[in-house]
Amino acid sequence: MASQEVEEDGEMDYGDWTPVANRRGGIGVNRAEGGWMTSQGSKRSLEESSSDEGSGFVRKKAGKKEVKIILKFRKDEHISLSPIAVSRELKKKLGVVEMARILRDGSLFIVCKTEEQKNKAWEVESVCKKIISERKIVGDSKVTRGVITGIPVEEDLDKLKRSINGGEVSRIKRLMRTVNDERVESLSLLLEFQESVLPEKVKIGCMIFPVRPYIPPPLRCYKCQRYGHIAVACKGKQRCPKCGDEHRVEDCKEKVQDKCCNCGGQHRVTYGGCEVRKRAVKIQQVKTVNNISYAEAVKTVQGQK
Ligand SMILES: [Zn+2]
Ligand SMILES: [Zn+2]
Ligand SMILES: [Zn+2]
Repeated sequence: MASQEVEEDGEMDYGDWTPVANRRGGIGVNRAEGGWMTSQGSKRSLEESSSDEGSGFVRKKAGKKEVKIILKFRKDEHISLSPIAVSRELKKKLGVVEMARILRDGSLFIVCKTEEQKNKAWEVESVCKKIISERKIVGDSKVTRGVITGIPVEEDLDKLKRSINGGEVSRIKRLMRTVNDERVESLSLLLEFQESVLPEKVKIGCMIFPVRPYIPPPLRCYKCQRYGHIAVACKGKQRCPKCGDEHRVEDCKEKVQDKCCNCGGQHRVTYGGCEVRKRAVKIQQVKTVNNISYAEAVKTVQGQK
């Protein structure tokens, strides 16, 4: 089995945290456009970010409630925006804002300086001639999950948690990866933030770590091994994840040819290269990145074919 298969599977891991296979940026969204910018429109440099004052991080500030707003563009307006042009326009319409950022789904996220400014932002009908179709005020109650990588396995996670800057981390967990059927600790950490919008990066000491969205493994039925439902809702037959026959994995023979009951290929059902699995992973990514339902994600992936 390929060692780069970092993603764990399915129902048995549901609720547990496992690594993501995709690299930064999810799918269909140009993350390169999503950098931090100042109100003057320049992307912040690392030097700027490392000074505390005016750092490019979303930081929870006491008494700064409900000044964050998300402006969603009409679907057909979903193209990249010039950071300079956006900044200039925001300054003209709202005055100097705390920070603005293009989110993964293409929406414009603005942290205003005052409630009054936020109310003004609510009235904005277009930005750079792109029509806004939806508005959302975001509180601080929601939880978002992200992944950072490059943390040695011997690192003390409690200590690390206390040193993280750039978002309020409520939970931290090391992700596992599968190498030749064995689960081993990876260099990636899952961070659960008490932030409604996932920070782009965090700082640990003076070091910057990009944060990528956490994509949970696709939901796989423990019984029939198909994706998108769980065993209690299953109307299918019992299938073995190893050989594809109609028995439980516990009842499978020691030496048996791997066969996938989803695609018919000579691999286990969890194999990362399985076409059916790849599609399920893609659906999960679309679902997570765009924050839509499973059914909507299925439709979107079908439409991309
Ligand atoms: Zn099933
Ligand atoms: Zn079997
Ligand atoms: Zn397969």
